[in-house]
Amino acid sequence: MPDRYAVIGNPVAHSKSPQIHAEFARQTQQDLAYERLLSPANAFIATANAFRTRGGRGLNVTLPFKGEAFRYSDRLSESARAAQAVNTLKFEGDAIIGDNTDGAGLVNDLVRNLGHAVAGARVLLLGAGGAARGVIRPLLEQQPAQLVIANRTLDKARRLAQSFRDGLEASSYATLAGRQFDLVVNATSASLARELPPLPRGVFARGALAYDMMYGTGETPFLAFARADGAAALADGLGMLVEQAAESFFIWRGVRANTAPVLKLLRQTAA
Ligand code: NDP
Repeated sequence: MPDRYAVIGNPVAHSKSPQIHAEFARQTQQDLAYERLLSPANAFIATANAFRTRGGRGLNVTLPFKGEAFRYSDRLSESARAAQAVNTLKFEGDAIIGDNTDGAGLVNDLVRNLGHAVAGARVLLLGAGGAARGVIRPLLEQQPAQLVIANRTLDKARRLAQSFRDGLEASSYATLAGRQFDLVVNATSASLARELPPLPRGVFARGALAYDMMYGTGETPFLAFARADGAAALADGLGMLVEQAAESFFIWRGVRANTAPVLKLLRQTAA
């Protein structure tokens, strides 16, 4: 019997994780099965426990269960602790080990795939929800010159900034006027609703990269705005998805997958 893994979420039918992990397993000759696990909204723990009882070795966790998976874990990695959310569960004997690979996924995509250094860069992070929280620590580890968090509800950005360290700056959108950044990451859910965060014009410095964590819906309003406002490069979140999956795969199997051909394949399938 191959080792069993799954992505748990609600909804989960759209998830590309089964395809990504099947490619990683083929590439690295790992004998595993990876499925989609739809959990009722109020039954995450029962669904995850049933999967473990059937011999499941690990889960990827997607919306809306990352917070519940954090509480479900009895051991947490540093990144899960900082994110207060878990996207990777590993079942080892009786232990439930929770990790969060979203931030490492973003940084690997930025630095390795897109060749855009975070070290020394002025970074603007839009949003103060779960996705933003999950990437702050890995971004800070790269030692950017600045990391500013802008959010529609300013208080939420302030609380988030305070929970990390002094020097992490919270801002409203309006007070960004006149400032420039080398990297602007959209971690809001605005793109899901085809909306644009209320960014002032002129925030993209020369050579800036505009990165939208959203993927699979064509050019988002944020990326269209960035293009018109002079951003030098645009990227969606598909690379982050593949990179966070590779980190989960490593946690489970101890083997590094080559992400480039998998990302290429997904882009071809989407085209
Ligand atoms: P949350 O619901 O936790 O947070 C949503 C955030 O978006 C809040 O800060 C909210 O602001 C802000 N927001 C929503 N609508 C608007 C708008 N119209 N204008 C400005 N700000 C807005 O969501 P998550 O943090 O969990 O997810 C955010 C996105 O990240 C999702 O779209 C998801 O697809 C993506 N994501 C991608 C991943 C990948 O691998 N590529 C991994 C994880 C997430 P306020 O506080 O004011 O309400």
